[in-house]
Amino acid sequence: MKHLSILGSTGSVGENTLRVVRIHPERFSVKALAVKKNIEKLYEQAVEFRPKVVCIYDAPRAQEAAPKFKRLGIRVVMGDEGLEEVATLVGVQEVICAMVGAVGLKPIFAAVRAKKTVAIANKEPLVMAGKLLLAAAEKSGVRVLPIDSEHSALWQCLEKQDPVFVKKLIITSSGGPFRNRKGSLAKITPAQALNHPKWKMGPKITIDSATMMNKGLEVIEAANLFRVPAQKIDVLVHPEAIVHALVEFVDGSHFAHLGVTDMRLPIQYALSYPERLEDHLPHLDLAHLTALHFEKPDRMRFPCLDLGYTASKIGGTMPAVLNAANEVAVEAFLGHRIGFLGIPKIIEKTMRSHSLVYKPVLADIFAADAWARETAEELS
Ligand code: MG
Repeated sequence: MKHLSILGSTGSVGENTLRVVRIHPERFSVKALAVKKNIEKLYEQAVEFRPKVVCIYDAPRAQEAAPKFKRLGIRVVMGDEGLEEVATLVGVQEVICAMVGAVGLKPIFAAVRAKKTVAIANKEPLVMAGKLLLAAAEKSGVRVLPIDSEHSALWQCLEKQDPVFVKKLIITSSGGPFRNRKGSLAKITPAQALNHPKWKMGPKITIDSATMMNKGLEVIEAANLFRVPAQKIDVLVHPEAIVHALVEFVDGSHFAHLGVTDMRLPIQYALSYPERLEDHLPHLDLAHLTALHFEKPDRMRFPCLDLGYTASKIGGTMPAVLNAANEVAVEAFLGHRIGFLGIPKIIEKTMRSHSLVYKPVLADIFAADAWARETAEELS
């Protein structure tokens, strides 16, 4: 039996994690859940999965809700301290990190230091501080497992392969909702950008898909996770979203990972690794796939992709700056304060005015994150 803590249990990855747990109750049990503020959904989850502790990040709401959870025999904790407690709870072997944004960074480091395996779905921590996190995990003797579908696919293709023979990592992109749209993207509204053709996800990542910043962040994420330079990572648009990633070896062989478009697949593998569990999802029916298409992304139309490459090549605190500026710009776009094309502009301007720390410690990363938020906010 593997005991789990789930940070961000009411988001789409959190809910899908619980669906996997529900199918395999003999394998997994939930010891702790953490949410930002969705108490109603958390309560339903608590009734079903009976964790020992829940963290409600928003303190006033946590205080208000505590008696209700207490009646179930569940302790309520709150704020950053509460998150850390959930991430380091005694008896938990694996922590699933599925919170949106930079708030997940501290609890993930805490989990690693407490010798927990961490499975990471939200890409921000790996983008901001991936190198530091991998170093910390190595020191603690634990693993950092990716849940992001492309990175889970790369991980599976790279398993037991000598990195010396790896030529390229290739991640695929559905192309987002505007792949075939003619004309300027200047007048795109939040509602149009929130309508993703392939994946049903939260608003932040859906906008990131529309701008292709999602792939920009994923390039940084892959570079950090697999310790390869960004130049060795390619992005291919693949509208069917069946091939999630490929690895090209020096002899010209390619390994590809194929699977249905369902987050439960990478989530389940991060939970069951190194084993594979009998799956309850519909399986891929290759005979009914008429064609798989691949094309190069349009880097002029979607400049966020190159901003990701640039930040990764520069390294140091720059990925954290890109990430923070992007979070602010996406919020501003969703709030109708800037247009769709304002997103890359704000990020680029923020990156240009940043004083880089080349070999950052965690404090430098938080400082760069805070600076970039303020700077991007002023530009919005
Ligand atoms: Mg992804």
